[in-house]
Amino acid sequence: MASEAGRVGTDPVLGRSDLLTKNAEVKGQAIRARRRYVLEKFGEPGLEALAKSLDPLSLDYLNSTVLPSSWYQLGPLYQLDRAIVGTLMKGDRAQMRQLGRDVAQYDLTTLYKLFFRIGSPSFILGRVAVAFSQYTRPGKMDSEAGSDHERTVEMSGVVVAGYMCAEVYSGWMEAAVTMSGGKSPHAQHSACQHRGDRSCIWKVSWS
Ligand SMILES: [Zn+2]
Repeated sequence: MASEAGRVGTDPVLGRSDLLTKNAEVKGQAIRARRRYVLEKFGEPGLEALAKSLDPLSLDYLNSTVLPSSWYQLGPLYQLDRAIVGTLMKGDRAQMRQLGRDVAQYDLTTLYKLFFRIGSPSFILGRVAVAFSQYTRPGKMDSEAGSDHERTVEMSGVVVAGYMCAEVYSGWMEAAVTMSGGKSPHAQHSACQHRGDRSCIWKVSWS
């Protein structure tokens, strides 16, 4: 019993699941990105293997029955992503950073093309609050300029799964920097609510 209790709330992919914001929601376009990514990266066999490991709700998310502009519960997406990490990425959640990059590359060249037409990396990262509110609710992101090649981004008012803030969002920010002309981007998730910090913070730098 004691050892069971010790494990409650901690998951290698999700992080401190007891901290996760209940009933947080995600936009359908982010859910649909999963199927696209799995097909591109792992092909039909990957998609089939993944589908077998899913509960009915997560399977619905994978099969893209969701509408891009509607809001959905984040819970089943966490389960879908957890299965992607476990089944296709051999447990290495760091690979979710690439999924974050792909989501940014796709969305910022389609849905948010206008948003990205102008601006330096710093300008674009300065608008992450707007981008964030298109993907997730509740919560907010703020950012402030550091040096010429650095910006700090802070997320508060929501706790998302550990892999999501540490990898997916980091990848998203790195791709956004690259797409606005920055070289060698690096998003360091320097503070995280899953590690006991008050908010989630990224130091994003480029050359
Ligand atoms: Zn975090």
